Amino acid sequence: MSLSEFGLIKQYFQQQSVSRKDVTKGIGDDCALVNVPANTELAVSTDTLVADVHFYADVDPQSLGHKALAVNLSDLAAMGAIPAWASLAITLPQAEQAWLEKFANGFMGLAEYYDLQLIGGDTTKGPLSITVTIHGHVPQGKSLRRDQAKPGDWLYVSGTLGDAAAGLAVVQQKLALTEPEYFINRLQQPSPRVTVGAALRPIASSCIDISDGLAQDLKHILTSSECGAVLELEQIPVHEQLQHLSFEQQMQFALAGGDDYELLFSVPEEKKALLQSVAQQTGVKLTCIGRLQAGPSTLTLKHHGQPQQLALAGWDHFSS
Ligand code: ADP
Ligand code: MG
Repeated sequence: MSLSEFGLIKQYFQQQSVSRKDVTKGIGDDCALVNVPANTELAVSTDTLVADVHFYADVDPQSLGHKALAVNLSDLAAMGAIPAWASLAITLPQAEQAWLEKFANGFMGLAEYYDLQLIGGDTTKGPLSITVTIHGHVPQGKSLRRDQAKPGDWLYVSGTLGDAAAGLAVVQQKLALTEPEYFINRLQQPSPRVTVGAALRPIASSCIDISDGLAQDLKHILTSSECGAVLELEQIPVHEQLQHLSFEQQMQFALAGGDDYELLFSVPEEKKALLQSVAQQTGVKLTCIGRLQAGPSTLTLKHHGQPQQLALAGWDHFSS
């Protein structure tokens, strides 16, 4: 490595504009030291991105830096937690300065936006891989979870679904769109729904972020909460630029495509009306797509009221 490990850490990761009061010791000692506010729970999550598994090794490093943090922020969002600190374990084939600078810019830009401080990490040589551990705060006992949904609750999603899968199809030259940049951006630089998650704390009975596709992630809520669901397929929000595609293709992207990082959540009947102000406050569209029902953790699909079977590629959890 042309740059020493410590030089690299100092130059790219120790320099940051965020300096939180609750961090007693940030990067530079054997451990970071932080203060957890009274009456809050610490929400902690880790996600790893591996080259050629989760992203193409030649992807724009700025986008990669953004995404490595965004996917972790999305996990906090799903619990209604507010971001505070992160650590970054990065394995690199070589210390290429131009690459590192762009990666750090993508990561730090998003960190700054959420007032999140990078408090430590690890730097090693090897095949490109990035692991972020994120910490956030949530008022004691108020987090959103997967296991508290009840039959009769309504199912909602934020934003539009299938955009990232369409973006991947564009990158793979399997799909041509008139304005492909939006979809590539949705794939490479997802927007974690942190403010939506926090606003849903007093409203939603369960919540999960959609990383593996709506169908798969809904199954997690159904299994944890021990109930079933009916999805009204025509209600699923699909971006208008994808609406010329066949119904099957749209559903493939929206139900089985991953990487959207939207929120899927359930809301009791009596709290539905509160969602309007959440959508207004956050500027994020919230759409009702179905309802939970008593019974086994199975998923029923309906299209304009009629039961619908879909053969979705890459989704092996379809038959309950
Ligand atoms: P140690 O050998 O004591 O585990 P390191 O030499 O790995 O510590 O790291 C020195 C300091 O730099 C520590 O505070 C560590 O948390 C931090 N650090 C190492 N790599 C990174 C990174 N990629 N991003 C942020 N901080 C890092
Ligand atoms: Mg040490």
